[in-house]
Amino acid sequence: MLITDCSNPSKNPLLEPWDTPFQTPPFDLIKNEHFKPAFIEAMDQAKSEIEDIAKNDEPATFKNTIEALETSGELLDRVGSVFGCLNGANTNDELQKISSEIEPLRTKHADDMYLNHTLFTRINDVYMAQASLDLNDEQKILLENTYLRFVRRGAKLNEMDQQKLRAINQELSDLYVKFDQNHLQQTTALGLVIEDKDGLVGLPTDVIEAAAELANARGQAGKWAFSLQRPSFTPFLVHSERRDLREILYKAYINRCDNNDEYDNKAIISRIAALRVDRAHLLGYENHADYTLERNMAKVPENVYQFLGELWEPALRRAKIELADMQRLAELEGATFKIQGWDWWYYASKVKHEKYDLDEAALRPYFQMESARAGAFDVAEKLYGIQFVKRNDIQVYHPDVEVFEVLEADGQHLGIFYTDYFPRDGKGSGAWSSSFREQSNIDGKFVTPLVYNVGNFAKPTKNDPSLMSLGHVTTLFHELGHGLNSLFENTTYAGSRRVPRDFVELPSQIMENWATDPAVLKTYARHYQTGEPIPDALIEKIVTSQQFNQGFRQVEYLAASFLDMDWHMLTEAVDQDASTFERDSMEKIGLIPEIAPRYQSTNFGHIFGGPGYSAGYYSYIWAAVLDADAFQAFKETDLFNKELAHSFRRNVLSRGSNDMMAQYVKFRGREPKVEALIARLGLE
Ligand SMILES: [Zn+2]
Repeated sequence: MLITDCSNPSKNPLLEPWDTPFQTPPFDLIKNEHFKPAFIEAMDQAKSEIEDIAKNDEPATFKNTIEALETSGELLDRVGSVFGCLNGANTNDELQKISSEIEPLRTKHADDMYLNHTLFTRINDVYMAQASLDLNDEQKILLENTYLRFVRRGAKLNEMDQQKLRAINQELSDLYVKFDQNHLQQTTALGLVIEDKDGLVGLPTDVIEAAAELANARGQAGKWAFSLQRPSFTPFLVHSERRDLREILYKAYINRCDNNDEYDNKAIISRIAALRVDRAHLLGYENHADYTLERNMAKVPENVYQFLGELWEPALRRAKIELADMQRLAELEGATFKIQGWDWWYYASKVKHEKYDLDEAALRPYFQMESARAGAFDVAEKLYGIQFVKRNDIQVYHPDVEVFEVLEADGQHLGIFYTDYFPRDGKGSGAWSSSFREQSNIDGKFVTPLVYNVGNFAKPTKNDPSLMSLGHVTTLFHELGHGLNSLFENTTYAGSRRVPRDFVELPSQIMENWATDPAVLKTYARHYQTGEPIPDALIEKIVTSQQFNQGFRQVEYLAASFLDMDWHMLTEAVDQDASTFERDSMEKIGLIPEIAPRYQSTNFGHIFGGPGYSAGYYSYIWAAVLDADAFQAFKETDLFNKELAHSFRRNVLSRGSNDMMAQYVKFRGREPKVEALIARLGLE
């Protein structure tokens, strides 16, 4: 392979030992051009490590095969995780180009490993002999995970089918990259540019300021611009009195990547769905959902449909009541139209004001980002005794990123935690948590985790600090929950911690309960100017309004979950018209036209931007049943019950298991009940 530039690996910081505090990535030295050669070098290195394992003359043992495989590819993990972070949170044309070039190579690299016959024979030997091996519980889990990962990636297929599988994986990997790039382009695109002040009627000052800054940044100084990122889109739909403009922005939003232009994702989706069917068939499954769910708590699609169905009826019933409430209010104000999708946020906000008198804007001064973050840290400190200490000596990839060292109660170093909370061009939408390095402890070498949280919360303006919405505050707590999960991991092997997709949101979602608990709000929600704690009256309103609009929220979420499942129940690899498919799918469940699924197929990044949440978007509410039930245990005793927290950390957060239900039962003393969630959402 010809490498044109930066081919001297000794000059590449991604390939050097990191002589930084806690071996954190040396972002000051890492440049875009380092990634491609580093990937190539790291893949070569991983490949030769794998070859050494496969060609070992000794008989296969747990140590020389399973554990050796677990420790291979360390450099590739390192390069991949830094690149993944930057390409998600701070991307540019150059990184995207590298991504397009590297992803197919990484897919090939992975397939070369999973389809390496000599290697699999050794894994299989160890797996078959396990009854006679003296393995501890964690080693047994690692062995099973490794074996199944290979089988599920095609290790048992014959040569010809393996070739087919490789081709499918290669094509999928290209399609994911294309889907994501189109998605990012259309989400950061401007959905509305306002040229005269008439278009601003109803908008609060901070929204107008942010719109002016966005227009300025996009070369349209003197105008006001709104992108299709939620922090820009949502406030406009909530506040704008210009129904015509709301309609324009709303339609731009739900039509992302569905405009029959170069960024259209319809054909890409159809092809992804078909390839997933082909792959499922090759591996002996009827459809992609069967293949995916096998290793989840839900096990089979029927369980998911039944579960979603139980929530769908009460949610839809509630949404129709909400719609009627809004229609009545609109008519009282003299409206002669029927409420449409682009009216929902606007009138919902009015109903909220009328019923609960809760003005979201009045809350923001109490939710300065720094206070909300300190509040979230404080919850973790009270529950688990840990501490977050600000560090200014650790390099970051953007000035908005801040770094904390996380310590145990006794001062022992636990890991490093980065926060990157403000939206900017080149950052994907939404919020997420990930790691530059995962915890492990092989041969007495304890590796501590480097964890980061990314969000798109209110950016400070010229005049104000970051004043967050309540929704973004709960998201901040949510992502910290994922972060704690990574920070608390305490196993020998990272590979023994596989947790099912439908479990993984429990650690994050449970934190949201503390975010909005009155006693906790009192501690961190302080006015950014006066320092006064949030008044009881506002807390009361937050609590009572929590069930507000839950019909809408659950319906849009559940609709997207059904859509995801339907795409992955296909049993024939034939072209689908994505629009028709989506319409049919939504008709089947009786979705009302005033509500769109939370994502349309063409911008459903969770399921089409990668393997991610395909046949797994339902996981959020599945995990919600668990988090509501788990939080109930704290509420029944003490919000900061240290003993319970300790058990939650030990049984649920610190280790993976192939039976997470059993782990949960160890914590709760019984299986979860759905009642706590139904009550919380007010859907009885
Ligand atoms: Zn999450």
